[in-house]
Amino acid sequence: MIRKTLFLLLVSLFLMTETFAGGLQIIDKPIRWSDFREQLIREYAAAHYNLEQIDIIPKAVVVHWTASSTWESAYKHFYNETRADGTLNVASHFLVSRDGRIYRLTPETALNRHIIGYNWCAIGIENVGGVNGVEDLTDAQLEANVELIKYLHKKYATISYVFGHYQQDAAKSSGLYIENVPNYRSEKIDPGHIFMTALKSRLQGEGLKFYEKVACKVKALNFMITRMMLRSRFSISTDVLKGYCKFAIQKGRLLAASLLCVLSFISGQKHGGK
Ligand SMILES: [Zn+2]
Repeated sequence: MIRKTLFLLLVSLFLMTETFAGGLQIIDKPIRWSDFREQLIREYAAAHYNLEQIDIIPKAVVVHWTASSTWESAYKHFYNETRADGTLNVASHFLVSRDGRIYRLTPETALNRHIIGYNWCAIGIENVGGVNGVEDLTDAQLEANVELIKYLHKKYATISYVFGHYQQDAAKSSGLYIENVPNYRSEKIDPGHIFMTALKSRLQGEGLKFYEKVACKVKALNFMITRMMLRSRFSISTDVLKGYCKFAIQKGRLLAASLLCVLSFISGQKHGGK
């Protein structure tokens, strides 16, 4: 009897870290939250949006990939308050592991830094994967994203848009984009058009607005070639470059793949093969 009671107590303690929302299982795994982070959020909101707020009224859900292979490394990356330059660190609200477990890293209505121009109104979902730009998010992650977005849409009636990070330009037609800092932008390919197409198809009829894939392949290749060219200034490993070549081959862009391989070889020679 005592053993049974102890077992039940342990089980209930374990379940306390998890929330069950209409069958959806969310594991609370908060990143470091402090007065300091709140101050950095305020500074970010003031500089980029001219807003005085650390909370958001969610209007969009933005889907990402982490470009890393484990949820632990992604969690570690988001954990601290600052980036190397001392400004607010990047973070998303949710992190989805390869096997589809959903971790909640911050309050759902916190202002997090995950997409230029939309942080003031967007909830971010990071999916573990996409190393070297390879579209490899899993079926379990797709299921988790579908259920999580349904849950968020039900909870926040203000949410109307769902888009991938790479669709940041197309999403400007929503009227949600705000950015006060001139020339502050970055090219993105995550979480890949295969995942976003599947997500759009699975969430049809939910009353959410999606965007078309917006020449993702061309953008992805431009991104890869730019990174390739910048290799002389930033250390990008040969493995990463090989990954880009593989990605171009997967996408059927054989000409681009050949070009990348040749450039990679020349650059490798130039940099003593390092
Ligand atoms: Zn992203």
